[in-house]
Amino acid sequence: MNEKRGLLIGRIQPLHNGHIKVIQETLKEVDEIIIGIGSAEKSHTDSNPFTGGERILMLSKALREYNVDASKYYIIPLEDISCNSLWVGHVKMLTPPFSKVYSGNSLVKQLFKENNITVIQPPLFNRTEYSGTEVRRRMLNDEDWHSLVPKSVVKVIEEIKGVQRIQNLHKKEVSELNNKKL
Ligand code: NAD
Repeated sequence: MNEKRGLLIGRIQPLHNGHIKVIQETLKEVDEIIIGIGSAEKSHTDSNPFTGGERILMLSKALREYNVDASKYYIIPLEDISCNSLWVGHVKMLTPPFSKVYSGNSLVKQLFKENNITVIQPPLFNRTEYSGTEVRRRMLNDEDWHSLVPKSVVKVIEEIKGVQRIQNLHKKEVSELNNKKL
């Protein structure tokens, strides 16, 4: 029954064109895709600036922009847990049944393989630019980030004042660091 359902997990901080490409390519191989939003409880830090809910919004708007059939995907927020050895069971408890996992993350691959679940490493597309780290770096430095993400994601980030958030978080971290040195 779950032969053709695949799981893709990503922090999606924020959603970029590489994520869209990997979702489109995965949907050529499976009937349905489960998109797990990793570290769903994290937000308002340099590497995890956006909330789980904001990332759900980015995903659903972008998948609509790219005309991905809504009956073919499930978006599931996944909170992190402190115990890696129990994480696969935690993910399985929260997601529809799946038979394959698509991931390029080495810890994710190792944990699913140790649980005898097939893991496929999808190819990376333009990884130097299509990376959450690079999008956030450009937001911080007022450089062009719009070209790296779907148009609908630009709108969501503008709506939630995401760039100002990243810049303010960074200023706060720098000032805390300077205070510690004093
Ligand atoms: P990510 O958003 O960086 O990437 C997600 C996936 O998108 C990648 O595996 C890759 O397949 C794809 N991708 C990214 N850029 C691409 C590009 N340019 N071209 C094509 N594909 C691209 O997220 P991640 O860091 O892999 O997320 C893993 C999540 O799993 C994290 O939230 C982590 O905390 C969670 N996790 C939690 C536990 C725990 O709670 N104990 C354990 C392991 C992992």
